[in-house]
Amino acid sequence: MKAARIIKTKEPLEIKDVGVPKPKNDQVLVRVESAGVCHSDLHLWEGGYAGPQGVFMKVEDRGVKFPLTPGHEIAGTIEEMGESVTGFSKGEKVLVYPWIGEGTCPACRVGEENVCDAPRSLGIYQDGGYSEMVLVPSHKYLVKLQGLDPNSAASLACSGLTAYTAVKKAGAQPGDTLVIVGAGGLGLMAVQIAKSITNARIAIVDIDDKKLAEAKRLGAHEVINSGASDSVKGVKDITNNFGAEAVIDFVNNAKTAPNSLNMLRKRGRLVMVGLFGGSLELNLPLIPLRAFTLTGAYTGKFADLVELVALARMDKIQSVVSRKFTLDQANSALEELKSGKIIGRAVINP
Ligand SMILES: [Zn+2]
Ligand SMILES: [Zn+2]
Repeated sequence: MKAARIIKTKEPLEIKDVGVPKPKNDQVLVRVESAGVCHSDLHLWEGGYAGPQGVFMKVEDRGVKFPLTPGHEIAGTIEEMGESVTGFSKGEKVLVYPWIGEGTCPACRVGEENVCDAPRSLGIYQDGGYSEMVLVPSHKYLVKLQGLDPNSAASLACSGLTAYTAVKKAGAQPGDTLVIVGAGGLGLMAVQIAKSITNARIAIVDIDDKKLAEAKRLGAHEVINSGASDSVKGVKDITNNFGAEAVIDFVNNAKTAPNSLNMLRKRGRLVMVGLFGGSLELNLPLIPLRAFTLTGAYTGKFADLVELVALARMDKIQSVVSRKFTLDQANSALEELKSGKIIGRAVINP
């Protein structure tokens, strides 16, 4: 089978002919129909993230090994199953939960394999979906698509799930103001999710009026252009000067993070999600005096993916797939994503 693999970071992916894995026990071999092209794939390809003071945080220091087949947003058809798989049948369409853990650490024991101490995520720590087929370690990581389109379902496993987790962690109550910073793919997904699972007033912050208009169409009540005005003042203006009960920062860089913190009302919660890099200087007395909660969110747990797929099936959320590539075009897909040309999601159809 063909797979597009990162052999060395910063060098073009190579299309390799690799052996077809044979599923054993509860393993499942899935024929990939759609693999989402995600910003994390770019970080893998580039070999890391920008940390404080421009220090580069290498993925290899976090246990990633190359060569690697990337791709963690995988939807496809069951091709073959190990002898102990139950509840699924050959030819069934499924979405793969990629955030797999080793199964025994404190996070895994409460079903949060996405934050496992020794992660084994597909497309990051083991071969993923930029391939004709992918070996899924257990049928317990599969969600039935039941009629959902594989191309629009693929990104639910990553950006959708991340947005879902972030909205849940923000914990906005009816009547609260929930600020969403960044109207990219994640932010727009979060607006739709917040609209369907909370009764909060949703405010969205971005520098791009087109994206803000899209957020409004999808259900945001207030839009704030942070390029044209002071976003902190914008939030204060719509909250009688108190600030917001919850803020989700999907950018989370040195520019947005201080503003996100300053938008909070007393007892407010800031959920930090974006991986755009940088560092934040904290006014330490302010955190206790205003009783803030700062928390991070990284992807989400399997149970949340099941809930999210159910929302998608009820047409409560839509993900926009704007570009489709073949496996041979994997490098172009990453280049286009890097250049910022892709609106919504790009997918690879092997
Ligand atoms: Zn992703
Ligand atoms: Zn674990």
